Amino acid sequence: MDVSEEEWKKRLTKERYRILRKKGTEPAFSGEYWDCKLKGVYVCAACGNPLFSSDDKFDSGSGWPSFTRPIEKETVGYTKDKKLFQTRTEVHCSTCHGHLGHVFDDGPPPTHKRYCINSLALHLEEKR
Ligand code: FE
Repeated sequence: MDVSEEEWKKRLTKERYRILRKKGTEPAFSGEYWDCKLKGVYVCAACGNPLFSSDDKFDSGSGWPSFTRPIEKETVGYTKDKKLFQTRTEVHCSTCHGHLGHVFDDGPPPTHKRYCINSLALHLEEKR
């Protein structure tokens, strides 16, 4: 996806730009979806790529929407994030490369993964 930073700045709100393009993190319990129980598909807020299903969402207590897996394996990509003292695995949209959040190994069965994702990187397309 060939979109310039200038163009992303125009397309996204300031808050979404900071998360998706600058790898920011929204404050815990601040986002739209951490406590959301609605059914549907969470798509990338930048490009609309389907990322996570509400079926794989669980309450992690972290204050961020959390999932055990992406809706399709190839829909997200991973990079090592060495910004903090420990190395974390950063998760991004495979279509637009927008930053989504991080994945940790302390999730529930069946995957034992915890995809810790910013609400601001997501948009819920509700199932009706
Ligand atoms: Fe995207």
